[in-house]
Amino acid sequence: MPLPIEIHLYNTLSRALEPLRPAEDARLRMYTCGLTVYDYGHIGNYRTFVAVDILQRFLESEGYHLETVLNLTDIDDKMIDRAQRAGRSVREHAEIYARAFAQDMEFLGLRRPDHLVRATDFIPDMIAWIERLVAAGHAYASQGSVYFRVSSFPAYGRLSGKPLEELQSGARVDSDQYEKEQARDFVLWKAHKPGEPAWPSPWGPGRPGWHIECSVMSMKLLGESFDLHAGGADLIFPHHENEIAQSEAVTGRTFVRHWLHVEFLLVNGEKMSKSLGNYYTLRDLAAQGFHASGIRYLLASVPYRRQLNFTLDGLRQAEAAVERLRAFGDRLRRATLENADNVELQAAIEAAGLRFRGSLAENLNTAGALAAIFDLLRAGNQALDQNAMGLGHREAIERLLARFDSIFGIIETDDRRRMEAYGNELHPVEATLADEAVEQLLARRAAARLERNYALADQLRTQLETAGIVVEDTRDGQVRWRRK
Ligand code: AMP
Ligand code: ZN
Repeated sequence: MPLPIEIHLYNTLSRALEPLRPAEDARLRMYTCGLTVYDYGHIGNYRTFVAVDILQRFLESEGYHLETVLNLTDIDDKMIDRAQRAGRSVREHAEIYARAFAQDMEFLGLRRPDHLVRATDFIPDMIAWIERLVAAGHAYASQGSVYFRVSSFPAYGRLSGKPLEELQSGARVDSDQYEKEQARDFVLWKAHKPGEPAWPSPWGPGRPGWHIECSVMSMKLLGESFDLHAGGADLIFPHHENEIAQSEAVTGRTFVRHWLHVEFLLVNGEKMSKSLGNYYTLRDLAAQGFHASGIRYLLASVPYRRQLNFTLDGLRQAEAAVERLRAFGDRLRRATLENADNVELQAAIEAAGLRFRGSLAENLNTAGALAAIFDLLRAGNQALDQNAMGLGHREAIERLLARFDSIFGIIETDDRRRMEAYGNELHPVEATLADEAVEQLLARRAAARLERNYALADQLRTQLETAGIVVEDTRDGQVRWRRK
């Protein structure tokens, strides 16, 4: 066990790096907002989950005991919409993509959380919590729905830095929301609409709003006040802001001490997202021959608070970097060594170890940690070239590589076995691009060609093909497409 080291993480709430100090001895309780299982996760989603995975592995290697929760959102507007379009019940639809998520986790080697939970298993708890909010005057029922009264919680806006006055307060601006007291109030319980799943409640049949789901699940499993809450940067507002309001309005206690947000993964400067259609799933990439280790490397190569621009070329480079690490490991193992004095190498190994750990301890600087490992690789290769490595050096290098790999999970990964996570299903169960998304990508491809940006045009075409869309350029300059 290494000597204790102070770990600093950026806290979105205080907008500063803060030492991580668990409330109870070394036990850290952490909740991560998981996937909405209406479709496959894309690698933007997995950027967030890989960052969380690396953080959790690092904390454990530093002696912390973690209790972790990851949720799957299996009921919300998108779930209902997509299930209806696919002609399935919401439950069946969620089942398909929850299973796909489990395959993705296995493929990427993500640690299993202590609790992998689904929102629909906690509906009675959500109703009970909403009742407490209503009883305390923080929420009100209106036409079978229940809303949170934002004006009753003066701290609203602290996380996102949006002052309360700035949020629209004018009532009845949106015809769809006419039954709210104020436009900024948000829904806790949605009255039943025909064709939607519903649960009985004191306000009539309906279903929970998305935000209340995470508040209730996290507090039920981790307590009313816990250490860490993570998610992508898109969740700061309104999702996490609303979670704080719903939770603290009842408990009067700090809901979460440390808020961690992972910046976006971008494609051509835009956020990778399902609605823009500019995304890759893990199985898309696996079907193209990319490996779990390369994907993990790429996702970890940029510190989590900086945006990461995804390109297939970047992924190829990441795969090459993984190969260099593996080749170095093999070379070390095979080398015939005797005891050798090499003060310089000894110093380089120690420096790499310090830099590796110090980088991760300083707001999970994964890029710094990787750079330390490549420093080690260079020093090691040079010593091997000069026949100047001793047995003790090798042992120390292998120890550091093993520690690196226990956190990053890319060297000793059997990539071929990882593919087995998908069985025979490397082809999507259904086309993942909606018609509108295909049209949008085609329009962008046309624009790229007009600007003579053929690299981008080709990339967009590959993206479409990966999603099973065949694009044909006809002789009269028209573009036709069909699904494979
Ligand atoms: P969703 O399925 O949209 O609820 O997202 C699941 C998780 O992935 C959430 O924590 C999101 O914030 C995160 N996420 C979504 N898109 C991206 C992206 N492009 N880059 C990084 N994280 C993302
Ligand atoms: Zn959430």
